[in-house]
Parts: sequence; C-alpha cells; structure tokens
Amino acid sequence: MAETTTKDVVTEVGTMKRSHYGMIINGERTESVSENKYDTHNPATGEVLATVAKANEADAEKAVQAARNAFDHGKWRKYPVGKRSRVLNQIAAIMRERFKDLVEMEVLNSGKSVGAATVQINQAIEDFEFYAGAIVGHRGTVNNMPYGFFNYTHKEPVGVCAQIIPWNYPMMMAAWKIAPAIAAGCSVVVKPASLTPITALLINEICHEAGVPEGVVNTIPGSGAVVGDYLVDHEAVDKVAFTGSTPIGKDIMAKASRTLKRITLELGGKSPNIVFDDADMEAAVAGSLFGIYFNTGQSCEARSRMFVHDSIYDTFIEQFVAKTKKLVLGDPFDKGTHIGSIISQEQLDVIDGYVQSAVQEGATILTGGKAAEVEGFEGGYWYEPTVIVDVTPDMKAVKEEIFGPVVVVERFSDEKEVIKRANDTKYGLGSAIWTTNQARATRVAHQIQAGIVMVNSPFSAFPGTPFGGYKESGFGRELAVESLDLYMEDKSVLSYYGSKPLNPFGV
Ligand code: NAD
Ligand code: MN
Repeated sequence: MAETTTKDVVTEVGTMKRSHYGMIINGERTESVSENKYDTHNPATGEVLATVAKANEADAEKAVQAARNAFDHGKWRKYPVGKRSRVLNQIAAIMRERFKDLVEMEVLNSGKSVGAATVQINQAIEDFEFYAGAIVGHRGTVNNMPYGFFNYTHKEPVGVCAQIIPWNYPMMMAAWKIAPAIAAGCSVVVKPASLTPITALLINEICHEAGVPEGVVNTIPGSGAVVGDYLVDHEAVDKVAFTGSTPIGKDIMAKASRTLKRITLELGGKSPNIVFDDADMEAAVAGSLFGIYFNTGQSCEARSRMFVHDSIYDTFIEQFVAKTKKLVLGDPFDKGTHIGSIISQEQLDVIDGYVQSAVQEGATILTGGKAAEVEGFEGGYWYEPTVIVDVTPDMKAVKEEIFGPVVVVERFSDEKEVIKRANDTKYGLGSAIWTTNQARATRVAHQIQAGIVMVNSPFSAFPGTPFGGYKESGFGRELAVESLDLYMEDKSVLSYYGSKPLNPFGV
C-alpha cells in the first residue's frame, strides 16, 4: 500500500476555516494515495470554499484496515464504559467551545440559514451527550431458565461500520451515526456527501482531540459510486448505516446481501401534514410552515403533502400563503433569514422540474414556483417557497419526493378518508396531525403508516426519540436508546449450574 507523503497526526483541530481539508485515516490528516482533490462550494454564492482530499478505492481500503485494526486489536472497545462515556462527553464539550466556528463552517458549506445550522449543531452536540449517558445504562438481559440453566445476554459491538451520509444535515447526520456507534465500541468509516464534507471531517478531528484512539473514527470524502460502493462491498465491514435516497438505499441493501452485512437505512419521504377542522389555527399554520420550509425543504421528514379540512381550507390557505410570502431568503448569516439556498444547481433543477410538471398536469401555484433572485447572492442556488393546489394523487409532484421548499395541498372532509389518503404513498417516514381533540390525535396517530407522528408539533425529533421509517423510507431507528442495539450483537450465554453432570446421549 502506498505511503502518504505527509503524516499529520491529529492532536488538535486548530483553525476550522482552511483552504484545504485532508481526509482522516488512522488518526492522521492525509491526502489521497492518488493525490486527487476536488473543490467544495458555498452553494449560497456558488463560490469555491476549499479543496478537499478525494478518496478512491485505495484510500477506502486504508480506512477499512485502520478501522478493522482498531476494532480487532485496539483498546477503545475494551475501555470501561464509563471511560468511553467521558470521551463522548469531551467531544461534546469541545464542540461547544467551537460552536460558533462549527456553525460558520456548516453555513458556508451547505448554504443553510444560520438559524437552521445553530439548531442542528446544537443537536449534534446533544447526540454525543445523549449516547454518553445512554451507553452507561445499556445492558443485556438475565433470563431464568428451568432445569439448572442460567442465561444472560452480553452486548458486544458489531464491529467495523461504514456510515454513509447525505448533504442535507452534514454535521447532524454525522453525529447521529458516529455517536451511537463509538459509544457501543464499534469503529467507523464515515463517507460524507461529496458536496458537504467539511463538518464531518471536523467532527472526526474533534473525536481525536477528545481522546478517541486512532483508527476508531475515519472519514473519507469521495464519490458515493466509488468509495461508498467499495465500503458496502467490503468483507471486513460488518455493518452499513446509510442515510440518503430510496433508490441508493435499495442498491445498498442488495449489495450488502453478498456479505450479509447488518444494515440500517434512513431513506426518503413524502410526509403528510393533516390539518383537522378542530385545529388551533395559529399553531397549525405556523407549524405546517416550519414543517415544509425548515432547512429549505431539504429534509427527509419534510411535511410536503398537506391535507386541509374542507371547512377551514380557505382560511388556512389564505394564512399559510400570506406567511409563506413573508419568509425571508437572504444572507444565510443574517439572523433574519428564514430560508437558505438549495444545495446545488442540479438539485434546483430537480425541484423546478417537479413544480413545472405539476403545472403541466393542471395544478395551480399560489405562490413561488420559480428560482429566486437574492441580492448579493446571484451566483447561488435559490428557490422560492412554493405552494401548489388543485393537485390530484397521481401527479408526479404529489407522489414523489421533491426535497425542496415545495408543498402540495389537498382538501379532505372525513377522518377515515384522510387516513387512507395519507397512507397512499410508498413512503412512511414522518407525519403531522393538527387537532385539539386528543382522542382523534391518538386514533389517527395509531393508523398512520409512518415511523414518526408529530401531534401539534413543528419538531420531529430530539435525542432520545426514535427516528426512522416504515415502508420504503427504510428501517432501523436512529437518535434513541434502541439505536445502540443496531450497533451491537446480543450474545446469549447459557450455562448449567446443576450439581448433577448432564449426559444427554446417555452413553
Ligand atoms: P444520495 O442517496 O444520492 O446520497 C447519499 C449518500 O450516499 C452520499 O454520501 C452519496 O455519496 C452516497 N452514495 C451515492 N451512491 C452510492 C452508492 N452507489 N453506494 C454507496 N453510497 C452511495 O442522496 P442525497 O442526494 O445525498 O440526499 C438526499 C436524499 O437523502 C433524499 O432523498 C432524502 O430523502 C434522503 N434523506 C433521508 C434521511 C432520513 O433520515 N431518512 C435524511 C436525510 C436525507
Ligand atoms: Mn444524490
């Protein structure tokens, strides 16, 4: 294997804003063996932000070997759990010290508003704190057996995990994946989205500064089709945790079957947002607005299919559209900005394609419907928050995930009917119900085919709440105590304590 030219052991993070970012393998900042790099951009301006080392298969191999070696021969998994917990808390503490810088880098690399980035970095920190606590009390079971047998389960880390993450929440998704995995004692190879590699690399550096031993966390930016694919196919990788689109998720599931890897998949969504006639109108309008436009609609659990009861439809839509028009697109660093940029021109074209297809199929746009001009950010990728009505269930924009600031609105008149229509999708990630009738809220919540139901809540998750999908939104849950089990194997230890030796064959 080719030696890298520069050995730069990560002992401290130093400046976060740099002109170049190396990948992290075995506790070192390193360049690709190919010496390839690529430009990463600020999507709000279209300008080049920095260059990043671009991993290829040889780099992925090095990263897997480093993770394998750390798992098989290293000390991390053997640490007393309290010590691992302290290191996770230390990661969180360093992130808190660098909070402003991390937010800045997330905004620069993703184009999201400073408000959105602040919430997400804060949650990334809380994830590490949450798993620092959760792992300490995470134990197996003791099972009473008849006939002089005693059984307990021993929880063991699953091994080397490839963690493939998308661009919409670059740092938060990295935290969702790294924190439970290393808490459990696993080693990881993180493959950030090519468009947004910086904050995942910074988390990796902070992990080392906090005391995570070399090789336990490795981060290799590069193409999903090359590096991601290599990791999924690798025999020394025990598990793949993936967040991204449903088609790639299906591909990963098929490929992982070759080595029977453990997999968790967090995929796309088309989440319903149901506003009943007995909803608190002000809360429903504000919450539905946040539900679709937060993070510029680039959220897997975006409430992108709105169902509004006939009897309140006109009032609701009038208020919803009025508030949509008030949302500010602007300098992502301005605290008054609500909506940041789209991640790329390619994604903007996808969004606009869906909107135009809806118009061609007979829908009506009440506001938005085109790329936005933002003064001072002419080179960036911006789209107007968009409300589409007069839609039918067979329209492409109603069936498929748009992943942008676009909501489609339908009317309904009856509870049973709206449940049926809400469930009429291949996805099952999020859902929201707006009603002041508690019995109805519970009744509907239990019939919605989705992993997450928000009742009168604009927010979908906090550390501690299980996050994941039904149907083609994937499987496995992140962010909660039970996620630890997806990074662990339960070993059943059965022992005999009777005084009479057993001789089942009787010979
Ligand atoms: P994507 O599926 O194209 O990419 C996700 C990641 O997978 C990236 O790191 C990419 O490089 C990598 N990848 C691409 N091809 C690969 C391959 N063949 N093998 C292995 N890895 C590969 O998705 P995206 O465009 O980056 O992100 C948007 C999508 O992610 C949306 O559809 C959205 O719904 C979904 N998403 C889901 C969740 C969730 O929690 N369920 C969260 C965020 C995003
Ligand atoms: Mn993609």
